[in-house]
Amino acid sequence: MSDVQTPLPCPDCGKPLDVMKACGATQYFCPHCNELKSGKRVLAQAALTRGPTSDDKPADPGQGD
Ligand SMILES: [Zn+2]
Repeated sequence: MSDVQTPLPCPDCGKPLDVMKACGATQYFCPHCNELKSGKRVLAQAALTRGPTSDDKPADPGQGD
């Protein structure tokens, strides 16, 4: 397991976002735009640029059916 995460790109400018975790909530801040970004937009943009990730899917039993 690795703690290293590639920064998510800003949906507006593509710069790496700062991830701020507080009280169980995750917020994304773009130092370039100097504003907070909606997590939904950030993750949607990341999915578009990287392709689907396992994080995007609901938990899978992984046993097939
Ligand atoms: Zn930005």
